[in-house]
Amino acid sequence: MARFCGSVCKLCRREGMKLFLKGQRCFSEKCAINRRNYPPGVHTRPPRKNSEYCLQLREKQKAKRIYGVLDRSFMNMFRKAERQKGNTGENLLTLLERRLDNVVLMLGLAQSRYHARQIVAHGHVTVNGRKMSIPSYLVGPGDEIRIRDREGIKKVAGDAIELNKGQPVPEWLEADPAQLRGKVVQLPTRSDVPHPINEQLIVELCSK
Ligand code: SF4
Repeated sequence: MARFCGSVCKLCRREGMKLFLKGQRCFSEKCAINRRNYPPGVHTRPPRKNSEYCLQLREKQKAKRIYGVLDRSFMNMFRKAERQKGNTGENLLTLLERRLDNVVLMLGLAQSRYHARQIVAHGHVTVNGRKMSIPSYLVGPGDEIRIRDREGIKKVAGDAIELNKGQPVPEWLEADPAQLRGKVVQLPTRSDVPHPINEQLIVELCSK
Protein backbone atom coordinates (compact mmCIF):
# COMPACT_ATOMS: atom_id res chain seq x y z
CA MET A 1 0.00 0.00 0.00
CA ALA A 2 1.87 3.01 -1.25
CA ARG A 3 1.36 6.59 -0.25
CA PHE A 4 2.94 10.00 -0.81
CA CYS A 5 5.55 10.73 1.88
CA GLY A 6 6.78 14.21 0.88
CA SER A 7 5.64 17.65 2.03
CA VAL A 8 1.91 17.83 1.35
CA CYS A 9 1.88 21.63 1.47
CA LYS A 10 3.98 21.55 -1.71
CA LEU A 11 1.11 19.71 -3.39
CA CYS A 12 -1.24 22.58 -2.55
CA ARG A 13 1.29 25.12 -3.76
CA ARG A 14 1.69 23.20 -7.02
CA GLU A 15 -2.08 23.22 -7.59
CA GLY A 16 -2.30 26.87 -6.50
CA MET A 17 -5.11 26.19 -4.06
CA LYS A 18 -5.80 24.76 -0.62
CA LEU A 19 -6.34 21.00 -0.77
CA PHE A 20 -6.92 20.79 3.03
CA LEU A 21 -4.48 17.96 3.69
CA LYS A 22 -3.31 18.99 7.17
CA GLY A 23 -6.49 19.32 9.21
CA GLN A 24 -6.84 22.42 11.37
CA ARG A 25 -3.48 23.85 10.25
CA CYS A 26 -5.08 24.49 6.84
CA PHE A 27 -7.41 27.03 8.47
CA SER A 28 -4.62 28.81 10.33
CA GLU A 29 -2.17 31.55 9.40
CA LYS A 30 0.54 28.88 9.10
CA CYS A 31 -0.98 27.51 5.88
CA ALA A 32 1.70 27.60 3.17
CA ILE A 33 -0.81 28.87 0.59
CA ASN A 34 -1.32 32.01 2.70
CA ARG A 35 2.41 32.62 2.89
CA ARG A 36 3.92 31.28 -0.36
CA ASN A 37 1.23 30.99 -2.99
CA TYR A 38 3.51 30.04 -5.88
CA PRO A 39 4.71 26.65 -7.17
CA PRO A 40 7.49 24.98 -5.14
CA GLY A 41 11.03 24.72 -6.45
CA VAL A 42 14.13 26.89 -6.71
CA HIS A 43 13.49 28.21 -10.20
CA THR A 44 9.84 29.12 -10.19
CA ARG A 45 8.87 29.63 -13.80
CA PRO A 46 6.89 32.69 -14.90
CA PRO A 47 3.20 32.02 -15.58
CA ARG A 48 2.54 30.78 -19.11
CA LYS A 49 -0.49 29.88 -21.17
CA ASN A 50 -1.63 26.39 -20.17
CA SER A 51 -2.22 23.84 -22.93
CA GLU A 52 -5.36 21.70 -22.96
CA TYR A 53 -3.32 18.69 -21.85
CA CYS A 54 -1.83 20.68 -18.98
CA LEU A 55 -5.29 21.70 -17.72
CA GLN A 56 -6.48 18.09 -17.90
CA LEU A 57 -3.39 16.80 -16.10
CA ARG A 58 -3.61 19.40 -13.34
CA GLU A 59 -7.26 18.47 -12.74
CA LYS A 60 -6.38 14.79 -12.45
CA GLN A 61 -3.45 15.52 -10.13
CA LYS A 62 -5.68 17.73 -7.98
CA ALA A 63 -8.28 14.97 -7.55
CA LYS A 64 -5.59 12.37 -6.76
CA ARG A 65 -4.01 14.64 -4.18
CA ILE A 66 -7.26 15.64 -2.50
CA TYR A 67 -8.21 11.99 -1.97
CA GLY A 68 -4.65 10.80 -1.31
CA VAL A 69 -4.52 8.15 -4.04
CA LEU A 70 -1.64 7.26 -6.33
CA ASP A 71 -1.88 6.87 -10.09
CA ARG A 72 -2.54 3.13 -10.30
CA SER A 73 -5.42 3.15 -7.79
CA PHE A 74 -6.82 6.25 -9.47
CA MET A 75 -6.83 4.58 -12.87
CA ASN A 76 -8.40 1.43 -11.40
CA MET A 77 -11.12 3.63 -9.96
CA PHE A 78 -11.56 5.32 -13.33
CA ARG A 79 -11.99 1.97 -15.12
CA LYS A 80 -14.55 0.98 -12.53
CA ALA A 81 -16.39 4.29 -13.04
CA GLU A 82 -16.39 3.67 -16.80
CA ARG A 83 -18.06 0.30 -16.34
CA GLN A 84 -20.86 1.80 -14.26
CA LYS A 85 -24.01 3.26 -15.78
CA GLY A 86 -24.28 7.05 -16.09
CA ASN A 87 -21.74 9.86 -16.30
CA THR A 88 -18.17 8.49 -15.88
CA GLY A 89 -16.83 11.67 -14.25
CA GLU A 90 -19.58 11.75 -11.66
CA ASN A 91 -19.20 8.02 -11.03
CA LEU A 92 -15.48 8.55 -10.44
CA LEU A 93 -15.97 11.31 -7.88
CA THR A 94 -18.68 9.43 -5.99
CA LEU A 95 -16.47 6.31 -5.88
CA LEU A 96 -13.66 8.42 -4.39
CA GLU A 97 -16.09 9.86 -1.82
CA ARG A 98 -17.08 6.34 -0.76
CA ARG A 99 -13.53 5.37 0.25
CA LEU A 100 -13.43 4.31 3.89
CA ASP A 101 -10.65 6.77 4.82
CA ASN A 102 -12.71 9.62 3.32
CA VAL A 103 -15.80 8.53 5.26
CA VAL A 104 -13.84 8.42 8.55
CA LEU A 105 -12.67 11.97 7.84
CA MET A 106 -16.14 13.21 6.87
CA LEU A 107 -17.55 11.77 10.10
CA GLY A 108 -15.02 13.90 12.00
CA LEU A 109 -13.25 10.87 13.50
CA ALA A 110 -9.81 11.96 12.25
CA GLN A 111 -7.87 15.20 12.22
CA SER A 112 -6.79 15.04 8.58
CA ARG A 113 -7.03 12.76 5.57
CA TYR A 114 -3.64 11.20 6.33
CA HIS A 115 -4.71 10.64 9.91
CA ALA A 116 -7.92 8.97 8.69
CA ARG A 117 -5.93 6.70 6.42
CA GLN A 118 -3.62 5.73 9.28
CA ILE A 119 -6.52 5.01 11.65
CA VAL A 120 -8.04 2.67 9.06
CA ALA A 121 -4.76 1.02 8.00
CA HIS A 122 -3.85 0.29 11.62
CA GLY A 123 -7.09 -1.62 12.07
CA HIS A 124 -8.89 0.78 14.41
CA VAL A 125 -12.13 0.89 12.38
CA THR A 126 -14.93 -1.64 11.95
CA VAL A 127 -17.51 -1.78 9.18
CA ASN A 128 -20.70 -3.59 10.23
CA GLY A 129 -18.86 -5.02 13.24
CA ARG A 130 -15.92 -6.43 11.26
CA LYS A 131 -12.42 -4.96 11.38
CA MET A 132 -11.56 -3.26 8.09
CA SER A 133 -8.00 -2.07 7.51
CA ILE A 134 -8.22 -1.16 3.80
CA PRO A 135 -8.45 2.64 3.30
CA SER A 136 -9.76 2.19 -0.26
CA TYR A 137 -12.66 -0.04 0.86
CA LEU A 138 -15.88 1.32 -0.67
CA VAL A 139 -18.73 1.76 1.79
CA GLY A 140 -22.33 1.21 0.74
CA PRO A 141 -25.81 2.18 1.98
CA GLY A 142 -26.57 0.85 5.47
CA ASP A 143 -22.91 0.29 6.41
CA GLU A 144 -22.08 1.18 10.00
CA ILE A 145 -18.60 2.61 10.58
CA ARG A 146 -17.33 2.49 14.14
CA ILE A 147 -14.07 3.17 16.01
CA ARG A 148 -12.96 0.00 17.79
CA ASP A 149 -13.39 -0.24 21.53
CA ARG A 150 -9.75 0.38 22.49
CA GLU A 151 -8.73 3.05 25.00
CA GLY A 152 -5.92 4.65 22.96
CA ILE A 153 -7.82 5.07 19.71
CA LYS A 154 -11.01 6.15 21.47
CA LYS A 155 -9.08 9.05 22.98
CA VAL A 156 -7.52 9.96 19.61
CA ALA A 157 -10.91 9.87 17.84
CA GLY A 158 -12.50 11.83 20.72
CA ASP A 159 -9.85 14.55 20.33
CA ALA A 160 -10.53 14.67 16.57
CA ILE A 161 -14.27 15.04 17.21
CA GLU A 162 -13.57 17.92 19.58
CA LEU A 163 -11.34 19.55 16.96
CA ASN A 164 -13.89 19.08 14.16
CA LYS A 165 -16.83 20.38 16.21
CA GLY A 166 -19.17 22.42 13.99
CA GLN A 167 -17.93 20.83 10.78
CA PRO A 168 -20.99 19.85 8.71
CA VAL A 169 -21.51 16.15 7.99
CA PRO A 170 -22.61 15.38 4.40
CA GLU A 171 -26.25 14.40 3.94
CA TRP A 172 -25.40 10.91 2.73
CA LEU A 173 -23.81 10.13 6.11
CA GLU A 174 -25.21 10.07 9.62
CA ALA A 175 -22.78 10.81 12.46
CA ASP A 176 -23.03 9.79 16.10
CA PRO A 177 -19.98 11.50 17.64
CA ALA A 178 -20.81 10.43 21.22
CA GLN A 179 -20.58 6.76 20.21
CA LEU A 180 -17.65 7.34 17.80
CA ARG A 181 -19.69 5.85 14.98
CA GLY A 182 -21.50 6.78 11.81
CA LYS A 183 -23.74 5.27 9.17
CA VAL A 184 -24.03 5.48 5.39
CA VAL A 185 -27.60 6.58 4.74
CA GLN A 186 -27.41 6.53 0.94
CA LEU A 187 -24.89 6.61 -1.88
CA PRO A 188 -23.34 10.06 -2.46
CA THR A 189 -24.24 12.03 -5.57
CA ARG A 190 -22.21 14.64 -7.48
CA SER A 191 -23.69 17.42 -5.36
CA ASP A 192 -22.28 15.73 -2.22
CA VAL A 193 -18.70 16.13 -3.49
CA PRO A 194 -17.39 19.27 -1.77
CA HIS A 195 -14.24 19.74 -3.85
CA PRO A 196 -13.85 22.08 -6.85
CA ILE A 197 -12.95 19.40 -9.41
CA ASN A 198 -13.81 19.55 -13.10
CA GLU A 199 -14.37 15.82 -13.67
CA GLN A 200 -14.91 16.27 -17.41
CA LEU A 201 -11.25 17.25 -17.89
CA ILE A 202 -10.19 14.10 -16.03
CA VAL A 203 -12.40 11.91 -18.22
CA GLU A 204 -10.96 13.50 -21.37
CA LEU A 205 -7.42 12.76 -20.17
CA CYS A 206 -7.97 9.24 -18.84
CA SER A 207 -10.00 8.13 -21.88
CA LYS A 208 -7.11 8.79 -24.30
FE1 SF4 B 1 -2.46 22.79 1.94
FE2 SF4 B 1 -3.23 22.58 4.47
FE3 SF4 B 1 -0.62 22.86 3.87
FE4 SF4 B 1 -2.35 24.89 3.60
S1 SF4 B 1 -1.73 23.88 5.51
S2 SF4 B 1 -0.80 24.31 2.13
S3 SF4 B 1 -4.21 23.84 2.86
S4 SF4 B 1 -1.96 21.13 3.35
